[in-house]
Amino acid sequence: MKQRPLRGKMVHFVGAGPGSEDLITVRGMKLLQTADVIIFAGSLVNPGLLSHAKPGCEIHNSAEMTLNEVIEVIKSRPGMKIVRLHTGDPSLYGAVREQMDRLAGLGIDYDVCPGVSSFFGAAAALRAEYTLPGVTQTVIITRAAGKTPVPERESIKKLAAHGATMVLFLSAGLADKISCELIEGGYSPTTPAAVVYKATWPDERVLRGTIGELPKMMEGITKTALVVAGDFLGDNYSLSRLYSQDFETEFRKSVN
Ligand code: SAH
Repeated sequence: MKQRPLRGKMVHFVGAGPGSEDLITVRGMKLLQTADVIIFAGSLVNPGLLSHAKPGCEIHNSAEMTLNEVIEVIKSRPGMKIVRLHTGDPSLYGAVREQMDRLAGLGIDYDVCPGVSSFFGAAAALRAEYTLPGVTQTVIITRAAGKTPVPERESIKKLAAHGATMVLFLSAGLADKISCELIEGGYSPTTPAAVVYKATWPDERVLRGTIGELPKMMEGITKTALVVAGDFLGDNYSLSRLYSQDFETEFRKSVN
């Protein structure tokens, strides 16, 4: 039998959200419900999401697969609607670029449905605002160098020099290193820090303390955690201009 042309076949990269099943987007859920094949990142995606798959949907756990195996599944299902389900938002530490490039090379079309990243889940758990007026207007998203390298110019120590909000992914087992480098980079050991374990999952845990206390706070937490640090977790800030009485916007006249 002649192989159907691959061009035009659609793979949807979908962000599953940070954990809680109802934090996938409406679009992501619709794609999940209508997929013929789902390849999900089993290490972090909530398996409960798979119960929304239609009967007969083929399901693969990419945690047990290599890149070649993932591509092979996609390649060999011509005409099928395939959802590649990634944790949080696919664009952060999702290893999606390498998949996209392989698909492009094969003439397989794809699109991306964004998701709620875990660092937004962590902000919600902390009831925090990362970009606090008068404190910082910048969020640095990074990771500690561990088994996977990080370019030297992006070491935690160097990034810490900005004194901005720091969000550290994939760094749960590296508390000593994180704490030391943040302090060497310029934060005071008493700068507030928090660890959010399994943000938005039923067993979510929020630990608050200081940068100096991070090693103690993180004892026993080896994965699925975010470390956040910076004065956005402190008590002092300025009120925003946006809602200030004497500030006029396109939508609102000043009160004074
Ligand atoms: N694309 C994902 C990140 C994948 S990398 C996102 O946007 O969230 C995996 C890392 O993300 C974990 O090691 C952990 O640092 C973080 N992570 C993922 N889900 C998390 C959660 N629910 N709570 C805390 N950290 C989480």
